[in-house]
Amino acid sequence: MNDEPFHPPQRILMGPGPCDVDPRVYRALSAPVLGHLDPQYLTLLDRIAERLRRIFAAPDHALTGALPGTGSAGMEACMSNLIEPGDRVVIGVAGYFGERLVEMATRAEARVVRVDAPWGEPVAAEALAAAIDDETRLVALVHGETSTGVLQPMEDVADVMRGKSALLVLDTVTSLGTTEVHLARWGVDAAYSCTQKGLGCVAGLSPVSFGPRAVERIRSRKTPPRSWYLDMNLLQRYWGTERVYHHTSSSTLSYALNEALRIVEEEGIAARAERHRRNARALVAGLEAMGLEMVVDEKFRLPAISVVRIPQGVDDVALRRMLLEKYDLEIGGGLGIFKGNAWRIGLMGHSSHPNNITLCLAALEAGLAQSGFAVRPGAVRVALESLDGPLPFASRPISSG
Ligand SMILES: *Cc1c(COP(=O)(O)O)cnc(C)c1O
Repeated sequence: MNDEPFHPPQRILMGPGPCDVDPRVYRALSAPVLGHLDPQYLTLLDRIAERLRRIFAAPDHALTGALPGTGSAGMEACMSNLIEPGDRVVIGVAGYFGERLVEMATRAEARVVRVDAPWGEPVAAEALAAAIDDETRLVALVHGETSTGVLQPMEDVADVMRGKSALLVLDTVTSLGTTEVHLARWGVDAAYSCTQKGLGCVAGLSPVSFGPRAVERIRSRKTPPRSWYLDMNLLQRYWGTERVYHHTSSSTLSYALNEALRIVEEEGIAARAERHRRNARALVAGLEAMGLEMVVDEKFRLPAISVVRIPQGVDDVALRRMLLEKYDLEIGGGLGIFKGNAWRIGLMGHSSHPNNITLCLAALEAGLAQSGFAVRPGAVRVALESLDGPLPFASRPISSG
């Protein structure tokens, strides 16, 4: 047995998540543990809920907090609490995570109606409108589809949903912290996210927010949800004023999330979204300058993740292994139909920084040239020129606290 301590290498994480973590978040992780009913800890939970309500732009008093588990726990909580057996549920499917929503809704015994869109495109609002009828109880969609790099335009969806009795659930796992999210304005009744992507924290918690209509739907269920662990009626008694023990909430992860949310609010949500757009534009400019081709049309691109076609004849796995071993750089492979023919390059949270763009472009250029692809030189310069705007070069806030 190897009983040496484990020393992980210092990677640069530019995949679809997790992404790099701010040193302030690492420091927060080392604070002393508190009991889950310690009065001081309960005030921290309230502060986290308040910050999340602001970052989600949720309706006042929305039932908001961070569930134990990753983003999938939030997805599971929404599907299992908001669906009762036999409910008609319309799901927009334009990638891998839309498929996961279908899978979870099916397990919750919904009558699922799919509204499909080709991978690489958003779900059409008109197609959703056509699928929703008076019996429809729930509509679910992915805001930032990490498998395809598409950002779902939400204003049209909000128009379609206006006045409907069906609830709207939105997956904001990749969009929260990387682009603007407006739950109240878009009429989103429930949303979930994760901590390790746009919020720049470690994995382990899943922020969720349930608006008044969703809370009422859960309260008036005929049968309790199958999942005891994610039963929001039970969890509400811990998160709310009763403070009844439900599970052992991790104080350590809460410290980390609170610090990550403080960083988001210090930067400002609009400035943060602008940083993600600007850095993504520079990365894409560099990739295109090399002669590579983006998968998604410019107007639907998700700033958090850029999906680029792998040129013919280039070995996907070998090139990504070279980036990892030689440059400590992780980028993502393709999922589903993009497996083997596209890379997913993430610029999220703390990872969304010009230095990461220049390293990634330079390393890719070297790797592609070695693979025999006729790579055009000068990508780094093109990216740097694209960054030459009114903002300072290093727009990521320097850690201070
Ligand atoms: C990553 C992701 C999930 C799943 O989150 P985990 O933290 O891996 O459980 C769900 N939806 C989207 C859009 C994602 O990108």
